[in-house]
Amino acid sequence: MRPINNRINTDTLISEIRILRSKQQARHIMVAGGAGFLGSHLCERLLKLGHTVICVDNFSTGLERNISHLRDFKRFSVIRHDVVDPIDIEVDEIYNLACPASPPHYQADPVHTMKTSVFGALNLLELAARTGARIFQASTSEVYGDPLVHPQVEGYWGNVNPFGPRSCYDEGKRSAETLFYDFHQRYDVEIKVARIFNTYGPHMRPDDGRVVSNFIVQALKDQDITIYGDGSQTRSFCFVDDLIEGFLQLMATDPSFTGPVNLGNPGEFTILELAEQVIKLTGSRSKTIRKPLPTDDPQQRRPDISLAQTKLGWQPLVPLSTGLERTICYFDRLLTVEAHEWVG
Ligand code: NAD
Ligand code: UDP
Repeated sequence: MRPINNRINTDTLISEIRILRSKQQARHIMVAGGAGFLGSHLCERLLKLGHTVICVDNFSTGLERNISHLRDFKRFSVIRHDVVDPIDIEVDEIYNLACPASPPHYQADPVHTMKTSVFGALNLLELAARTGARIFQASTSEVYGDPLVHPQVEGYWGNVNPFGPRSCYDEGKRSAETLFYDFHQRYDVEIKVARIFNTYGPHMRPDDGRVVSNFIVQALKDQDITIYGDGSQTRSFCFVDDLIEGFLQLMATDPSFTGPVNLGNPGEFTILELAEQVIKLTGSRSKTIRKPLPTDDPQQRRPDISLAQTKLGWQPLVPLSTGLERTICYFDRLLTVEAHEWVG
């Protein structure tokens, strides 16, 4: 048997090696759009993995309250900046999530949305080219438009209107993908492009305007649930924790794998089915009402995630009912706090 002292030394050595290894792997990571719904979850996950995180955000749709709990980390910093303008800092990795994602938000200033997608991608790609950083692009299922192929595979080129209220977002994101491809081909920049399908969870704004937050807030307030059109259109809803794991696994793939890769939950629901689930889970007295279907609203959407399963070994784990319960809990607490602040 080894003397006890030796065992202690060996244990200490192992733990020192572990610290050294984790330090070597700890990176300086920029999260553009880090104060938003997805970005704030990503910042938290990266900090917990031991990385230094620089959140770059213009706070147009992002909120201080999404990141206030991260301010205790010494490795966390925030730069108020619009990605339409160039930025030059030293980083090892970049996640580009900066862009309003909710239709009412991205349509409020369509020219700035287009500039955000295109100039934002260009500026961050130039930074990646200079620093040698690996760069992630938050692309979207909207690149498929109102899809004629179902479920959507990455090889499908899409059915997008270039001249309509959704175009600033859809075409902006398509142009950004092109820029990512071109920087990879021309300048050897290491790129990772994820096409994200409808994702929901805590840190969405109550006034975000997307369907999950709208329905939950309406149900919790016993207000009418607004169904656009007849509610037969479908979406596939992914819980935020699942998606963030997908981001990390994509970023960790071999440099030769660039994507684009679909990240989403293939469980497909009509909007009416979603409303029924939210009413049931909240125990709400809300009734559904009909509102006009927005122009160019996609009729169906479901990701084919075979590529993500094969290349990343990733698939979502949280069923819709569980994810909705967690999101309802979040909004319930938020609305209670807001009500008290308002009264006080
Ligand atoms: P969000 O609106 O909550 O977050 C976007 C963040 O980017 C906000 O913090 C906002 O202030 C910031 N931002 C916007 N324009 C900026 C600019 N010009 N400069 C700097 N910061 C800017 O939206 P989200 O749901 O968290 O989406 C994050 C990213 O993921 C977006 O790029 C979006 O297109 C993409 N995406 C999201 C979904 C989804 O279901 N959540 C689906 C597809 C794609
Ligand atoms: N929608 C709805 N009521 C709402 C908000 C949205 O019926 O209060 C519908 C919308 O028309 C669309 C679907 O829900 O068919 C998803 O809308 P969202 O804005 O969340 O995402 P996107 O259309 O970008 O997928």
